[in-house]
Amino acid sequence: MVMTSNTGPMPTLFVGHGNPMHAIGSGEWSRAFSALSGTLPMPRAILSISAHWYVDGTFTTGNDAPRTIHDFSGFPKALNDVTYPAPGAPDLAARVANLLGPGRATVRHDWGLDHGTWSVLLKAYPLAQVPVVQLSIDRRLPLREHAELARHLAPLRDDGILIFGSGNVTHNLGDAFSRMRTGNTETPGWAGRFDDGVKLATHSYDMDALLSLVEGPDGTMAHPTPDHFIPLLYCMGAARPSDPVSTPICGWDMGSISMRAVRFG
Ligand code: ZN
Repeated sequence: MVMTSNTGPMPTLFVGHGNPMHAIGSGEWSRAFSALSGTLPMPRAILSISAHWYVDGTFTTGNDAPRTIHDFSGFPKALNDVTYPAPGAPDLAARVANLLGPGRATVRHDWGLDHGTWSVLLKAYPLAQVPVVQLSIDRRLPLREHAELARHLAPLRDDGILIFGSGNVTHNLGDAFSRMRTGNTETPGWAGRFDDGVKLATHSYDMDALLSLVEGPDGTMAHPTPDHFIPLLYCMGAARPSDPVSTPICGWDMGSISMRAVRFG
């Protein structure tokens, strides 16, 4: 594994995690996750915003040793046996809560690392040597407020913290499963248009365009619920307009799930 030295602010990185099985597979997406760390400066710690901690409130994980959460069902034992023993970073958890402002975030010790986080990090940092803190997504907040909260997190980048969002640019499981059942893996028009729109909005650093996409007709199909979209708002919200934007991963899984990753910086 090649690690580049950190000479500027740490990039922010959104990754489409897709099927949890990519955590233990060796296919295209598993290999793409493995390749991520070699292209990034080595982070001091990772702040992960996962689609799968979508709750009534803003919380950070303050555990010294966060547990591995298997928040899915119907998968093979091999996936349920996975552990990702990355250390926590209680000081970072407290700092994030402070950065978000008084009365906003609470440090909790009853959560750990869910599969949105570990299914990608297991491939990207298989030694689990980088401390990881999760930040929840408050599902009660309007989308724009997530982007606003993210701006408060930008200083972390100057301290070598990787702000990592894990979701998917398009995520309509009902559609994806029906495609799997019928063997139709063609990418539907709404998914292609939405993915193109996200590419344009992120590469032009246009938050208004990004937010309006999800409210349009394609957005309703791409995200029946916005949990897998919101982590992208954190990654772009913590970025700066001058950051170069790149696409470390793109393509389609199960026909309609975009695996697009977006790196800012
Ligand atoms: Zn997911």
